[in-house]
Amino acid sequence: MTCIYEDFDSAFASVCSDVTLYSNNKGFFKGLVEEIVSLAEVDGWLSKFEEIVDKEKVTAVLENQTVMDALKEVLSRIQPMFRGKDARTSHEKRLLAQTALKEGDLMKSLALASQAVLRAPMTGADEIIDNGISLALALWLRSDILLNLKRPAAALEDLKLALKERLPARMRAEYYWRMGHCYKDTGEPTRAKVSYELAGRLLGNNEQAKIQLAKDIDALDYADKPRHPPDRSDISVTGGAKQNIPALSKLLKIVEEEEKGRFAIAGAQIKTGDILLVDNPYAACLLSDFYGSHCLHCFNRLDDSKESAAVWCPKCSGVAFCSIKCRDAALTTYHSYECQFLTLFIGSGMSVLSHIALRMITQAGLDTSQQIHSKYLGDVKTVESIVLNDIEGINKKNKMKSRKERLNRTKKGLKGFEDKNSNNEEVETKIEDKTSHHEKLEMTAAQIYSLCSHSNQRKGTDYLKRIIMGLFLTECLKRSGFFKDCTKDNLQKAEKVICELIVRNLQLLQFNAHEIYETVRGQHLFNGSKPIYIAVGIYPTGALFNHECYPAVARYFDQQKIVLRAIRPLQPGEVVSENYGPHFLMRSLKERQRMLACRYWFRCDCIACKENWPTLKQMNAESSLYLRCPNASCTGKFKLTKNPPNRCYKCAAAINKDSIKMCTEDIDKCLSQYQKGASLMDEELPDEAIKTLSEAVDDFYNAGRPPHWETHIAQESLRSCFAISGNIHIVQNETEQKQPTI
Ligand SMILES: [Zn+2]
Ligand SMILES: [Zn+2]
Ligand SMILES: [Zn+2]
Ligand SMILES: [Zn+2]
Repeated sequence: MTCIYEDFDSAFASVCSDVTLYSNNKGFFKGLVEEIVSLAEVDGWLSKFEEIVDKEKVTAVLENQTVMDALKEVLSRIQPMFRGKDARTSHEKRLLAQTALKEGDLMKSLALASQAVLRAPMTGADEIIDNGISLALALWLRSDILLNLKRPAAALEDLKLALKERLPARMRAEYYWRMGHCYKDTGEPTRAKVSYELAGRLLGNNEQAKIQLAKDIDALDYADKPRHPPDRSDISVTGGAKQNIPALSKLLKIVEEEEKGRFAIAGAQIKTGDILLVDNPYAACLLSDFYGSHCLHCFNRLDDSKESAAVWCPKCSGVAFCSIKCRDAALTTYHSYECQFLTLFIGSGMSVLSHIALRMITQAGLDTSQQIHSKYLGDVKTVESIVLNDIEGINKKNKMKSRKERLNRTKKGLKGFEDKNSNNEEVETKIEDKTSHHEKLEMTAAQIYSLCSHSNQRKGTDYLKRIIMGLFLTECLKRSGFFKDCTKDNLQKAEKVICELIVRNLQLLQFNAHEIYETVRGQHLFNGSKPIYIAVGIYPTGALFNHECYPAVARYFDQQKIVLRAIRPLQPGEVVSENYGPHFLMRSLKERQRMLACRYWFRCDCIACKENWPTLKQMNAESSLYLRCPNASCTGKFKLTKNPPNRCYKCAAAINKDSIKMCTEDIDKCLSQYQKGASLMDEELPDEAIKTLSEAVDDFYNAGRPPHWETHIAQESLRSCFAISGNIHIVQNETEQKQPTI
């Protein structure tokens, strides 16, 4: 098998591949890997290793005594390494928070109080400092700050948590008094009154306080209504969801081709603006830079939540959660295994993709991971035919042969989603509810493990590096108690299974993961907004979209969900493409081809590459207009010059002056609509802007053809408008101080 990247730049390709595994400039992993690789090169072992079939490769490494001796020496030194609890620090931060509160610096005070909460040992663990109730005291203070910050629901949540953490009885009067304030501010006067009255009973002889309390009760407004934050409307795909692939719109189809694998095409007419995919990740990891500002579990900004403030992990102080619900979901699955190694992971320099490779294991636990391994890692051929039963491909014969089997498997695998004739949605929902976390993972794993991993183009060195990462992570798991239920006899086998699964994850993540972003903006909806990457995820259906340098869709993220919306109209049969990074507007043909070959191991033959379209800059300097062939069923186009051609080069249809005039008039109308769209954006009317721009882009395609400067600007504007419905963080003012929680 020839490797595509070798035609471009092998050295660059190998750097690209390495950084999907570990950092090139920080951490100890790079050094370790290079040392082991040099040992493996002895006697030409590495080239023999390259020839070994995939499923024997981990075994081959385990049997290489020289490599394993060196590796074991390093792995034996692995120890939990994480940011622990510290009552002294918690105490100090709390005092600082108190000072900041007095000085009126609420944001600083909140950040410090959150640090005090996250660093505090669990109640009773350290009786010397704060009598063992550092956590309760930190929460108590933070509830006051939150109340001042007009986040009464979050303040109330902290109060309740403080009580659970043994807040002293002598503080009860003040406790209920503050609770009354919280209820007052959440618009629940009746509850506020009950709380105030409770406080009154606990006040004893403090007459002055009683007078103040009476004033508070008098000030209650019983016409108040509970103020709940607006529900985030659930986004759904245009035209309804496909029965067997619920993340996908009915307007799309998945097809399979020998060269290109599986990918999405339009099954029906698609309009600009149509929502084509809403998919949940199979696994996703927050970048460690954001451990202090975002929920580890759902990626919500901690400071943007009205409902609660940062919630702690009982063991480490390295991460934060937006709610008890998120925390418990993380702790009962992956975090209990990862918690004590987070500092080691960061220090090793391993990539976030390596972390997801691990997360795919920790979130599933040992039993389910073993199930997944035995089901999907055995014979690759069967895996590829399991998943999607509406695949249409070139290999019809093969398809027919295994169709029945595939249908049976899919039915078994996709249970509730499957039955096309079933109108009984209730039954489906019930089945889905009952499907446990693990069953869902196992089901989705069928899709994940059929994603491409290009193993026939992978060099022995690259493979070995991935196995070293696999062994390193497996060793961490071993020390985290992941294999605690194994007996002496089956431990070794279980470890190998997990290592093999991680190695496979590392391969497929390299080509199929998505960077998750949030849009950071100032006071205006659009001006100066920019995306920042906060996490990475692997999407079972989202990974099925092929790349084009002129993509058909724009993507954004709603919490962890990926959403794809069309930015140009598509005819049935046209590829619904995504963009993996290099866009023709920003990068030259040569740059794009090199990046795609070296990073994703394929040669792009999209229309922008085939026709070598100009970049945005070049287009701006020398604008040109292409009109479509007058024959509706032809894809031909021609450049509008002083002397346009008489006939289409493709279908020979006649091109006359009248049709040219009609087209240019239509395009002029589009241009004025693009202008109108831009004004609507200035006026911060995203929905109206989306409507205007989408219709105008559709109209453009009835007359013209890309590349077309104004249309591409309009498409980029649409991308910004779509992102408004996704993850947004509003920077309060230019000088907003960054106050990390950790
Ligand atoms: Zn969360
Ligand atoms: Zn933890
Ligand atoms: Zn291309
Ligand atoms: Zn034509």
